[in-house]
Amino acid sequence: MAAVLVFVETQDGSLKKSAPEVLGQAAQLAGDLGGGVDAVLVGQGAGALAESVGNFGVDKVYVAEADSLANFSIEAFTKPLLKAVAAATPKLVLFAASVNGKDLAPAVAAATGSAILTDVTEIGVKDGAISVTKPVYAGKALAEVSASSDTVVATLRPNVFEPVEPAGGSATVESLDTSDIGDLRATVKEVLAKASEKLDLTEADVIVAGGRGLKGPENWHLIEQLAEAVGGVTGASRAVVDAGWRPHDEQVGQTGKTVSPKLYIAVGVSGAIQHLAGMRTSKCIVAINTDAEAPIFKVADYGIVGDAFEVCPVLAEELAKLRA
Ligand code: FAD
Repeated sequence: MAAVLVFVETQDGSLKKSAPEVLGQAAQLAGDLGGGVDAVLVGQGAGALAESVGNFGVDKVYVAEADSLANFSIEAFTKPLLKAVAAATPKLVLFAASVNGKDLAPAVAAATGSAILTDVTEIGVKDGAISVTKPVYAGKALAEVSASSDTVVATLRPNVFEPVEPAGGSATVESLDTSDIGDLRATVKEVLAKASEKLDLTEADVIVAGGRGLKGPENWHLIEQLAEAVGGVTGASRAVVDAGWRPHDEQVGQTGKTVSPKLYIAVGVSGAIQHLAGMRTSKCIVAINTDAEAPIFKVADYGIVGDAFEVCPVLAEELAKLRA
């Protein structure tokens, strides 16, 4: 019996950045729960990564491979996941609070009658129960929640937990029966992915986000230059996305992405509560805004009261020199 079962996410034949974060927490929690860690890999060709997962001190890796698992689908992925849960009988099933994890975790919790704790930023075991801290009310408050169902499902916010290095070890690999997966009510025929080399915002260590203070899309180069200087990716407020200056996949906030980078630079962003909901757990927040009273300064570690058009080029130039 495993104490913790981890759904390990993969992308383009590699483990996703969140995998060492979730596996690291699983190892710590398993000790407190008095058991080991099992993992489950789902997807066409996912089995090739079983050895890498075993290096994280995992006892057993369940692998589900089938043509019908080539594209992500909640229905298709949930089936083997439920088989892994039934085989491992874990006390805790862990997911990253990624786009796919947010879809799968509730499906697994509902099917197994488990409690679910989502978007967790701290997790531990208190008096034998899983106990977590999670942001609520769009990040305005932190709730401490504990769950006492036999199995608990939890999703961990990416970039919050320290990733662990693989320390060696070898796991037993067990193939899951995928013969029933073809029988799906909805099938993904094709995924029209935008060809982009850009790192997903939720996985980025450094984000430079621009807001309406940039005045127009023609000035976005200020954000791009600053992002390049600090080795980051660009994000945006909803006002900017709604205005069509930037695509929705760059939106940070309640109705956009939730991010926790090491460094978040907000330029011309007022810091509305809905924006803060998506970025206030960033480790270091720098705000550049002409209005000293802008709410973004209340969450900022460093603030520059100034005009983005003057500050950004100077900052980009100086930071680029430091990184050279
Ligand atoms: P503004 O609020 O217009 O702020 C612009 C800022 O730029 C101001 O603080 C101004 O002082 C500053 N500025 C102006 N000129 C300069 C200059 N030259 N240099 C430097 N600073 C300058 N918003 C999100 O971001 N993400 C969400 O996911 C989101 N979800 C929402 C969901 C709901 C249900 C609702 C109702 C709203 C949501 N919003 C969201 C919108 C949110 O309320 C704000 O309207 C939005 O965040 C404002 O974007 P902004 O900060 O770019 O623009």
